[in-house]
Amino acid sequence: MAMSLTEIRSQFPALSRTVYGKPLVYLDNAATAQRPQAVASLWQRLSLEENANIHRAVHHLAALATDAYEQARDAVKEFLNASSREEIVFTSGATAAINLVAFSFGEAFVHEGDEIIVTTADHHSNIVPWQLLCERKKAVLKVLDIRENGVLAVESLEKLISQRTRIVAISHISNVLGLVNPVQEMVRISHKMGVPVLVDGAQGVVHEPVDVQALDCDFYAFSGHKLYAATGTGVLYGKKKWLDAMPPYMGGGEMIATVRFSGTTYAPLPEKFEAGTQNFNAMPTLVPAMELVKAMRADAEVQKEQEAILDYVYEKLTGDDRVVLYGTERAAKIPLFSFGVKGAHHEDLALILDKMGIALRSGQMCAEPLMDRLGVTGLLRASFAPYNTLQEAEYFIKSLDKAINMLV
Ligand code: PMP
Repeated sequence: MAMSLTEIRSQFPALSRTVYGKPLVYLDNAATAQRPQAVASLWQRLSLEENANIHRAVHHLAALATDAYEQARDAVKEFLNASSREEIVFTSGATAAINLVAFSFGEAFVHEGDEIIVTTADHHSNIVPWQLLCERKKAVLKVLDIRENGVLAVESLEKLISQRTRIVAISHISNVLGLVNPVQEMVRISHKMGVPVLVDGAQGVVHEPVDVQALDCDFYAFSGHKLYAATGTGVLYGKKKWLDAMPPYMGGGEMIATVRFSGTTYAPLPEKFEAGTQNFNAMPTLVPAMELVKAMRADAEVQKEQEAILDYVYEKLTGDDRVVLYGTERAAKIPLFSFGVKGAHHEDLALILDKMGIALRSGQMCAEPLMDRLGVTGLLRASFAPYNTLQEAEYFIKSLDKAINMLV
C-alpha cells in the first residue's frame, strides 16, 4: 500500500526533532541514514526478549535468535536477487566486506607483479584494503581516472586491464560525485578479459535496485546503516565459485567444521566467513529496513519528490556563479551534491548551516585521492534520502545563499 511522504517521515523520529530551535534538515544521508522506528523496535525486542547466541545452543531463545538471523539472510538474498543464500556473508559493514575480499581473494589469487584496478573516485574503503594487499603481495595498484564531468573514463578500462590484472574494484555510486557508474558495462569489459569485479555498493544499494545476477558482478558489498538498518550490519555478496575458492579471512568459533591440533577444517558457506559471535541482535533489522526501501521505491509520491529535489538543487547549484558543483553528468546524477564555494571555506559554511538546522558533510569525505584529482582540499556535501522533501531542499538553497553572503 502506498504511503504518503508525511507517513514515511513519521516513521523516523529524528526527522521531527529540532536543533538550535530550528527543525532539523538532515542532508548527511550518505554518511548514515536516520533509523525508522521499526528498526529500533526490532533491535530492542531482540536485545531484551530474544537475546541468545546463534547457531550454537539447542534452547528456545537460541532457536529464535538463529531463525531471525537466518531469515535476514534469506531476505538479503531476495533483495539482491542472489542465486543462493550461501552467497550472502554478513559483515559489520561495507568496509569489513571489502577487506574480507581484499585479504582472502588476495591470499588465493594475487601474487608478486599482479595488478589490481580501482578508480580515482573511490572511497578510502575501496582503496586502502587493496593498497595493503599490494604491499603484502608486492602487487601493483592501477587507477582508472574520471573525466572532467566526473564520469569514469570507462573507455580506458579495457586498455588498463592486462594479463596480470586479478580484480577490478569499483564503486556503484561515488559518495562524492553522486553519479551512478556503468557497472554492468564495466563488468562486461572485465569479464571479457577474464577478470572478476567487486562492486562497492555502499551508496549504490541505497539509490538503485540491485540485481547481482543481472549485473553479473563477482562481489557486491554494502552497509546496513546507510540503508536505515542498525549500525554494525553489512553484507558481502560473493559468487559461490569465488567464496568456495577463497580461504577464511578470520579464524574462530563457528567458521570451522572440526578443529584438531593436527589440522582444522572449515564450515561450509557462508559460516566459513563468519567467525566469532555475530551482530545477531542487529542483522535482522535489515528486514524492516529493506521493506521500507522497497515501499519507498514503489511510492509514486516519494519518487516524484526525489525527482523534483534533484532537478531543483541541480539547477540552483549549477546556475550559481559562486558555486562549483562536482559530478555534473545529469543523466547519471542522484540527489547527492558535492560542491565548493569560491572564497569561502567548506567548514565555515557547514558550521553556519548547522546553526540554521541543516546537517551537511564537509571535508574530504574519505576520498582524498579524488579531492587531489579535483584540486580541492575539501567540499560541502548535501545528500538527500527519499524521506527528504522539496521544501527542505528549498530551505537548504535559501540558507546556503544567506551563509555565502555572510562570508563572501
Ligand atoms: N564506500 C562508499 C562509497 C561509502 O560511501 C562508504 C561510507 N561512506 C563506504 C564505502 C564505507 O562504508 P562503512 O563505513 O559503512 O563501512
